[in-house]
Amino acid sequence: MSAAQYDLIVIGSGPAGQKAAVQAAKRGSSVALIERGKELGGSCVHRGTIPSKTLRENALRVKNMRMNAAIANFELAEDLELVTLISRLEEVLDAHDQYMRRQLERNKVTVIHGRAQFISATEVEITQVRGDKQLLQGKHFVIATGSYPRNPDNIEIDHENLFDSDSILSMMYLPKSLTVLGGGVIASEYASIFQALGVKVTMIDKYPSPLGFLDEDLTQKFVSAFEHMGGTWLGSKQVTRAYWNNFDKTVTECDDGTVIESEKLLCAAGRLANVDHLCIENAGLQLNERGLISVNDHLQTTVPTIYAAGDVIGPPSLASASMEQGRRASCNAMGIAVGEMQSLIPSGIYSIPELSSVGLSETQARKAFGDVLVGVSNFEEIARGQISGIQDGMLKIVCDSDGMRVLGVMIVGEGATELIHIGQMALISEANVDIFVESIFNFPTLAEAYRVAALDIIGQRATQRSSY
Ligand SMILES: Cc1cc2nc3c(=O)[nH]c(=O)nc-3n(C[C@H](O)[C@H](O)[C@H](O)COP(=O)(O)OP(=O)(O)OC[C@H]3O[C@@H](n4cnc5c(N)ncnc54)[C@H](O)[C@@H]3O)c2cc1C
Repeated sequence: MSAAQYDLIVIGSGPAGQKAAVQAAKRGSSVALIERGKELGGSCVHRGTIPSKTLRENALRVKNMRMNAAIANFELAEDLELVTLISRLEEVLDAHDQYMRRQLERNKVTVIHGRAQFISATEVEITQVRGDKQLLQGKHFVIATGSYPRNPDNIEIDHENLFDSDSILSMMYLPKSLTVLGGGVIASEYASIFQALGVKVTMIDKYPSPLGFLDEDLTQKFVSAFEHMGGTWLGSKQVTRAYWNNFDKTVTECDDGTVIESEKLLCAAGRLANVDHLCIENAGLQLNERGLISVNDHLQTTVPTIYAAGDVIGPPSLASASMEQGRRASCNAMGIAVGEMQSLIPSGIYSIPELSSVGLSETQARKAFGDVLVGVSNFEEIARGQISGIQDGMLKIVCDSDGMRVLGVMIVGEGATELIHIGQMALISEANVDIFVESIFNFPTLAEAYRVAALDIIGQRATQRSSY
């Protein structure tokens, strides 16, 4: 079998692979992009980010219509098909697929659909749907094969009654009740989305509160909003077994004797590197103890000509970070100068309500700097919050003990994932808190919350100074 040769072979067409391929091609390298699925875009487009956000959009509409009962009495139909609630998904996916194909075509990237498998550190074999095989030789590689859900042995996932985060949206009907195992981002997003749709959701996790990496005020607001919608949070519980009772419900048993029954179950217990059938050992690579591919600061694996990016290398496991890692891996492989990667990555959690943070949480800042000043603004004090009925939101700025340097920003409430970028820019430019007061913001906007929280800090700063 004669082999086609490329400067760069990228395996996987998710956010990481796509950006890696386009970046190298733009600089004139010959690039092949291998994708085993029939569509481009990876789990981000087909199973993760975009489908879950499309469902969220509808859940939010349903929640708002219920809240506005004075305008219209609204109830969802019985036995509603889930697909109805992701109605715009096909259009979104088609548009995205077309856009990506055009971009790859324009940049002369060769797209090959088939499953890649390393034969050596310089060769991959591609197996196409009908079994045809093709050999490719590459001077460099970027592995961007993403991740798959970790399904513990004691949770009997059958994708019919007990689902994982890749299969949950294949559920036919909106269930009456759902158990969600896990307290991470995916668990919290789906738990709150389904609860907003009127499903009776019980979230169970081994930690006392969900989203443990976030500021405590944010997690508390999340739990109270979830419980206010009718959800149940059960923290500090160790699940011993979850299964289908072969008749009418899923059963979750915990080691303290708690038993939860529900119509359906979602297990969101983390994700592992997707390297099945890739035969990385033939290239001289192996997974690390966390089941991921290890890379150095240049996203280079232990084999110098092979790079890796995206979920396959582990946290933060976000589409946003994967894109930038893919672009950088490609630059490094092709010898294109690229500055240092920004370590400041915002977290955006598309739960209901939305949560977002950047920089240090209050607890982290106190640990690192001792005393800190914290300014808070509640959306109910903001004209736009009142007008739009987003009154349960909050924005919090954490500053150093002098009340000058911004150390972190945390937001809960609709719009949080957009608003956070104002704080991110302040952190990157090392601005002090006064910038939020001296700048004129549009009115009425939720961004005004920055101003109110900054004024809170400036007030505390003045009191502190006058007491010296
Ligand atoms: C439910 C859910 C919600 C999410 N929400 C968000 C969010 O709101 N914001 C955010 O930033 N991130 C979100 N994420 C995370 C985001 O989807 C991932 O971080 C991102 O998709 C990772 O990109 P990737 O390129 O590494 O891998 P992927 O997107 O997984 O793409 C990998 C591609 O590689 C292909 N592949 C695998 N093996 C082979 C092989 N041997 N040969 C050829 N092709 C192969 C796969 O078919 C796939 O297309 C979410 C994830 C989930 C599951």
